[in-house]
This record gives sequence, structure tokens and C-alpha cells, in this order.
Amino acid sequence: MQMNYDVIVVGGGIAGCCAASAAARGGSRVLLVEQNAFLGGNMTGGLPWLGFHEKNTGKLVVGGIPLEIIQTLQKQGAATDFVFDPITGSAVGVDPAMLKLVLLDLLKEAGVDCLLYSLVTDAGENQVTVHSKEGVCTISGKLIVDCTDSGDVCVLSGAEYTFGREPDKKTQVSSCIATFADIDYGEMLEYFKKNPTQIRPFPLEAPVRQKLLKQMETAPLAVLGAFPDIIKEAKKDGLPYTRDQLIGVVFPPKKELMLVASRVEGVDVNNVNNHTESEIQGILQTKVILELLHGYIPGCRNARLLTFGAQIGVRETRHIHCDYMLKAPDLLTPTSFEDSIAKGNYHLDIHSPDHGGLRAGSRRYIKFPTAASCRKGCVPFWSRDVVSERIMRQCLLPGWRPSSAPWVRRQAPLQQSQLRKI
Ligand SMILES: Cc1cc2nc3c(=O)[nH]c(=O)nc-3n(C[C@H](O)[C@H](O)[C@H](O)COP(=O)(O)OP(=O)(O)OC[C@H]3O[C@@H](n4cnc5c(N)ncnc54)[C@H](O)[C@@H]3O)c2cc1C
Repeated sequence: MQMNYDVIVVGGGIAGCCAASAAARGGSRVLLVEQNAFLGGNMTGGLPWLGFHEKNTGKLVVGGIPLEIIQTLQKQGAATDFVFDPITGSAVGVDPAMLKLVLLDLLKEAGVDCLLYSLVTDAGENQVTVHSKEGVCTISGKLIVDCTDSGDVCVLSGAEYTFGREPDKKTQVSSCIATFADIDYGEMLEYFKKNPTQIRPFPLEAPVRQKLLKQMETAPLAVLGAFPDIIKEAKKDGLPYTRDQLIGVVFPPKKELMLVASRVEGVDVNNVNNHTESEIQGILQTKVILELLHGYIPGCRNARLLTFGAQIGVRETRHIHCDYMLKAPDLLTPTSFEDSIAKGNYHLDIHSPDHGGLRAGSRRYIKFPTAASCRKGCVPFWSRDVVSERIMRQCLLPGWRPSSAPWVRRQAPLQQSQLRKI
């Protein structure tokens, strides 16, 4: 491994992989640093990729490397077709093991050097300090791209941030990602046909609900925020389930159900005791979820716990202070910024710390402004109001787009005047 790079990308989740390969394809010498043994981050838990399409028109609003990854997986039979989703535009199921493989290929073909088992513990404008079992080393980069889930590089290099909402600092709840096998989808579908309002928690017009139900007869996956009435009954019986719906995705051909149904409050990934306790809580809540599945949910009588995601899924971390902080109104009304770098399409869905359900808002796609995603040469996330925008597709776009921009190819430090030219 060299000790000098043009670009160092920290974090090997989907955002980091897109950023690193885009920069390397542009001719930069790139290092990707990841603390885990694998690439893909949170999405190796088997989550569907949401929002590639605009929901009202069905228009594809995402291209480039993200779409390339999906298409590569689809060619290998490792991703489903895109299916219509009335809330998020579209959903596509991805095989997590094949994803790890495709991401490694993507980086290798682009010529990215990769450092796994390596935690970045300090950062300056042009260098990072990396801890591994080998010890500590410092690696220089003309540009550092922060694709950690918690803005580590930004904070280590002095960025200001806020954590949680005012005034109580509470964050959205986190969930353990768990997949269950041996689902009888036929039985589940029959229930939905008789109870069409029980599929999703958001109000859907009758024709849209009919379209969704028709699609569910043959689709390879269906996104659920389901069974609120059954769950009410289960809670009345004393089951300590902490949600109002069963949140997840059912994959009929595989007879699998992937759930993000646990509810862990106050997770802070930068506090090791808190992080450990949260991890344990998330896993233990699965016992109640299994009871719910076995005792109450149609088609789940024989459900069997198959896998957990590699770690608890944390919905909200730090909000790095950026030149422009996106707010909820920017998302709920179609907004276009002069310096837009990426289009995104997702409704507001807040996993509130106050109650078991979701708060939702609807919108068309937004064009994300560069200024919101750039600070000191890093790519952090945006303001608290829009933390629900942290779905995969949205995260990987700011990673991929700025990293494929001319200033990365020129290996120049990031300047606002240059940003405007992108
Ligand atoms: C419970 C839950 C459910 C979700 N459901 C969906 C869904 O259904 N559909 C959807 O599209 N999105 C969903 N999302 C969002 C999606 O998971 C994220 O948007 C996406 O994974 C973000 O990708 P990322 O690369 O930015 O971050 P991550 O996937 O979190 O990757 C960050 C990487 O950085 C590494 N890292 C962190 N700090 C350091 C450090 N200091 N040094 C080295 N490496 C470091 C981590 O190990 C990790 O690999 C969900 C999120 C959660 C939490």
C-alpha cells in the first residue's frame, strides 16, 4: 500500500464504493478505508433499494454507477426487477452476498486500493490516521471524502455538528435488520386482499391500492408497513411489541421476510457502551417479533430466523453543519437548486422517538444542492428535518456525483467557486 493518494474515501458502504470508483475512473489514485471486513455497509442486511423512480410519473431519476450496480446484479440474477411502490416510487431487492462481490469487482476494475479492518481515528484536511491490528499509520490524500455513517472525518477534522432534535436531543429510533425464512406468502396475500388498508400505513387512493394489490400477486417483493389492526390486538393481549406496524419487505419467491421492526432509542455510535447495549437490545427484541410472527401474522406461523444484518441499523447520527442545510419544506415542494448535483426521490418518513409509528410526507423528486453536501472537502449528510433522506440511493448519489466531478480529477482542494461549476 502507498502512503500517498489523490483521494482517500473513508467508509466502504454503498456511498463510499460509488465515490471511490467514480474518482478512480476519473484518473485519481484512490484508497478506500473501511473498518469492517466487507464492503456494502448497512445495505448488506438485505434492504431493498428504494426510490430510483419518481412515483407519480414512473420516470427513472437515478443513473450512473448506482444504476450500473443494480443492472450488474440483475444480469447475474442477484437483484429483482424494479417494482412500482406507491410511496417511494420503486423498490428493487438485492442479494447481499452478491452485492459484496459486485462491489469488490467494481473497485478492482476501477483500480481502487482497499484497506479493510481499518478504523479512521483522526483526520486533517489532507490526511487520515488509521488504526488496525498492525498499529497506527497516517496516510495522506489531496482530498478526503467522508462516507462514514456518522461524519467521522468531518468531526475529526473540526466540523461542527448537532446531534438529535432540539430541545431533548432525541434521534430517530434504530432497528436491528432481521430476515426470516419459511413464509407462506399465499396466506399473507389472501389477508391483504381481504384487508387492503393493512398493507401500508399511509393513505392510498383506491385505484393505487388496487394496482399495488394486483402487482403483489406476481411481484418478487413488496414493501410493508403492515398489519396495524392485528398488532393492536397483539398489544392488547400483552405482547410487548414496540411498533404500530410490521415494517419490512416480503420476498415471495424466496419465501423470506426482511424486517426492520425493532425499536431501539437513543443510539450513539460514537459511545461504545451505548452502541454495545443498543446492539444487544436490537437483537433481543427479535424474540418478541418472533412471537408476533408465530402467534398473529398471517403466513408467518412457521417463520424461522435466518440472518441478522451485520450491525444495528442506525437511522440518525450527526448533522454536520454545511453551507446550506436542507429543511423539510425543501423536500415537500419540488425544489431545484442552482448548484444541484443529484436528483433524489423519497417521501419523508420519520421513525419518531415519541411513538411506535412513522410520520410521513410526500413529494416529487428533489435536486440536491452541492452546498448542502460539501464542507471542507468532505461529503457529510444534511439537516435533522431531512434525515429520513438517508436511504441508500440518496446517500450514494452525493458520494458518487461529487467524486466524479472535475475537481476530483484535477485533484484540487474543494472550493465553493469550483463547486458552482460542477
Ligand atoms: C434500519 C434501517 C433501515 C433502512 N431501510 C432502507 C431501505 O429499505 N431502503 C433504502 O434504500 N435505504 C434504507 N436505509 C438507509 C440505508 O441503509 C443507508 O442510506 C445506506 O446504507 C447508507 O449508505 P452509506 O454508505 O452512506 O453508509 P453505511 O452503509 O452506514 O456505510 C458506512 C461505512 O463506513 C464505515 N465506517 C464508519 N466509520 C468509519 C471509520 N471511522 N473508519 C472506517 N470506516 C468507517 C462503516 O463500517 C460502514 O461500512 C435504512 C437504514 C436503516 C438504519
